[in-house]
Amino acid sequence: MKNLVILGAGTAGTMMANHLVKKLNKKEWQITLVDQFKSHYYQPGFLFIPFGTYQPEDVRRTIDEFLPKGIQLIREKIDRIDKDTDTVILENGRNVKYDILIIATGCKIAPEEVPGMKGDTWQKNIFDFYTFEGSCALAKKLETWPGGKLVVHITEMPIKCPVAPLEFSFLADDYFTKKGMRDKVEISYVTPLSGAFTKPKTTETLNYLLKEKNIKIVPDFAVEHIEGENGKMYDYGGEVVDFDLLVTIPTNMGDECILRSGFGDDLNYVPTDKNTLQSKVKENIFVIGDATNIPASKAGSVAHFEAEILTENILKYIQGKPLNPEFDGHANCFIETGKGKALLIDFNYDVEPLKGKFPFAGIGPLNLLEESAFNHFGKMAFKWVYWNMLLPARKIPFVTPTMSRAGKKFDKETV
Ligand SMILES: Cc1cc2nc3c(=O)[nH]c(=O)nc-3n(C[C@H](O)[C@H](O)[C@H](O)COP(=O)(O)OP(=O)(O)OC[C@H]3O[C@@H](n4cnc5c(N)ncnc54)[C@H](O)[C@@H]3O)c2cc1C
Repeated sequence: MKNLVILGAGTAGTMMANHLVKKLNKKEWQITLVDQFKSHYYQPGFLFIPFGTYQPEDVRRTIDEFLPKGIQLIREKIDRIDKDTDTVILENGRNVKYDILIIATGCKIAPEEVPGMKGDTWQKNIFDFYTFEGSCALAKKLETWPGGKLVVHITEMPIKCPVAPLEFSFLADDYFTKKGMRDKVEISYVTPLSGAFTKPKTTETLNYLLKEKNIKIVPDFAVEHIEGENGKMYDYGGEVVDFDLLVTIPTNMGDECILRSGFGDDLNYVPTDKNTLQSKVKENIFVIGDATNIPASKAGSVAHFEAEILTENILKYIQGKPLNPEFDGHANCFIETGKGKALLIDFNYDVEPLKGKFPFAGIGPLNLLEESAFNHFGKMAFKWVYWNMLLPARKIPFVTPTMSRAGKKFDKETV
């Protein structure tokens, strides 16, 4: 019996287990999944908890619920991978041998990277919403917050779901407007980027929306340290931003098990071929989702597209055939803009988000890079799609793993 071991039962690991159990011969392959926790979180839902749109129980299920029969689950923390002996070493000292390894350990926030961020005022006037605990604590804070300077802040890129902090700013505008206290809240968006987003055309649209909603943008801000007690955030150039409530996206990093394995980059991401998803560490190690160092967005939609291509490549690897270098960085993200509307962006490594219709050219019904109520409906329906289609690895009709050019308005520069 050969062993295929998947590290991490989050979005990507669960999808891979569900894809592979259907494809691998059960008499030849044992699939083992390792994760430290019992709960599986729908992380896109963390955005909605602070505003009371979702309750904590809406985003939490158990890992076991989504695992098909025939998979072995080991609930234990991974200490490290010994690539030379094809072994995963668990924290309890147990060794798990593998013939093929898939790393899907994701990434997480590291607030301790910035002096003062996780100090005495963490979850008093400095919050995150990238964790279940953070978003629940922020929900409680917002219920009684009297208003003042709200600063939404990104520490450094890359972060998972790079549009989430913008969505938070737009939803905060909507939330305080509905509460009748928007005039008591000054919202600033502080980013290390030169504009609202990483891609020029999207940045144009998003800068316009920030202006329309009276959200001040502070660009090129590289935070050096924070003084929680004084409500001040300093950048390396000496610029200071004052806050009463700081909602920050701390540095995002891969898990320390990658650091302990000795092959991660500076942020503990695994060097990975951006088209085949084979690691650059060893040929029998593959990587998927937020754990990779590829220049695609760290998003569940990306993990979903990667999973289809990686499944094919695992089968090719087993058969000794050349891998398919097909993954093109395809990402597809809804951006909540408040007041029951959202944008949709669809892009890949080479094509930035463009205007047009999705998934059917000329018909849509979703609009690309334009606000619509239908897009908001799509964003809210994503939770159902996540639990019922993405995790069980069911095909989503009309959405292809590589980016389709149909329906997009290309101009001379973007052809
Ligand atoms: C606020 C927010 C909003 C988002 N919005 C969207 C959105 O609208 N659309 C979208 O597509 N994506 C969105 N995302 C991103 C999406 O949730 C992630 O990209 C996706 O979950 C990544 O999947 P993953 O499997 O790589 O990592 P994860 O789902 O994080 O799973 C990693 C798993 O590995 C396990 N693990 C890690 N280290 C160890 C260890 N040492 N031992 C044992 N187990 C370990 C963890 O316990 C975890 O279960 C959002 C994320 C956040 C935080």
